Amino acid sequence: MITAVMPTYARADLAFERGEGPYLYALDGRRFLDFGSGIAVNCLGHSHPHLVRELTDQVAKLWHTSNLYQMPGQQKLAERLVANTFADTVFFCNSGAEANEAGIKMMRRYQYVAGNREKNRILVATNAFHGRTLGTLTAGYSEKYREGFGPMPDGFDRVAFGNLNELRDAITPETAGILVEPIQGEGGICKAPEGYLEGLRKAADEYGLLVMFDEIQTGIGRTGKLFAYQWSDMEPDIISSAKGLGGGFPIGALLANEKAASAFSPGMHGTTFGGNQLATRAANAVLDEVLKPDLMENVLAMSQFLRTGLEAIGRKHPGFIAEIRGMGLLMGIKTVPTNSDVVAKLRELNLLTVPAGDNVVRIIPPLNITKTHVDEALAAIDAAAAALTS
Ligand SMILES: *Cc1c(COP(=O)(O)O)cnc(C)c1O
Repeated sequence: MITAVMPTYARADLAFERGEGPYLYALDGRRFLDFGSGIAVNCLGHSHPHLVRELTDQVAKLWHTSNLYQMPGQQKLAERLVANTFADTVFFCNSGAEANEAGIKMMRRYQYVAGNREKNRILVATNAFHGRTLGTLTAGYSEKYREGFGPMPDGFDRVAFGNLNELRDAITPETAGILVEPIQGEGGICKAPEGYLEGLRKAADEYGLLVMFDEIQTGIGRTGKLFAYQWSDMEPDIISSAKGLGGGFPIGALLANEKAASAFSPGMHGTTFGGNQLATRAANAVLDEVLKPDLMENVLAMSQFLRTGLEAIGRKHPGFIAEIRGMGLLMGIKTVPTNSDVVAKLRELNLLTVPAGDNVVRIIPPLNITKTHVDEALAAIDAAAAALTS
């Protein structure tokens, strides 16, 4: 008989009662070190005192009024995202896929408004993941996720991630824009090669295309900067954000420059819940912390500790680690044993991680972890390596 909760997930037999910092406490009393952060969402860990205070205050005041009215908290959040990025303006929604849908619409509509009515196709990458709506599934790579859900929307052309020559060859008079992740998350923590993002910008400028980055996983400090593109020497036209933005409260955002966003006049796009008082209070509280330079320094320092420790584990247990990937606290271990076996073994050892494509185990802890937490995680990974390579 079907379960009351629709069985769309293969869940572990584990439920939690409460969380504190990077620790989760299961109903049976076991304590887990959470290096999965609810899939890169809980960027400040669990029950962060500042987030708890801010949301508690908001809960007692006002939750939602809709976008029929002004929302000072939403305006403040937008102004802060604008002040700290390339963007001139921000649209708020409720999830990553929704932010990507808005971006895809924006790229097409931008060309339409500019009089380039033939330009409505988007270049997307192999190995990409952009969400589970019909449009974002089509933009994503996985054939498996699309099977049986057709007909899918038209208008996406795929090129090999990281290959600028192939991208240039794929540009046609119908191309409107380019959509890629600066570091592919679900695909297996694959970083764009040196110069790739700058090369995209150059090609886009030459052909009048927009560049959109899906920073849903890479953004909000995960790589040691607010957004991953800030490590490069270019600026995109559009960015989608979600996951870490609300620190655990659902919120998505589309950041754009004025040129791209001029495509959306009032009434062109919208959502009922987007950027309501609770969601934007949570995101403002997240930014209070993530915009502190100390936290970004911590991300880089902890990343270095993790990498050094993982390299040592790799030397100690040949046949466990095939490759260490990523940057900041968006790390991936390509394992020799099956990644789901490694994730299950680590869970037995009270360490939570998340599998990704290409047999990768994602290490995506809260950004405010300390060396003690890193050491604790490394000890569990060392023990898992010993158990799975013996
Ligand atoms: C998680 C994710 C999405 C989808 O976000 P949802 O909130 O699940 O819709 C899209 N793109 C990337 C890169 C992601 O990591």
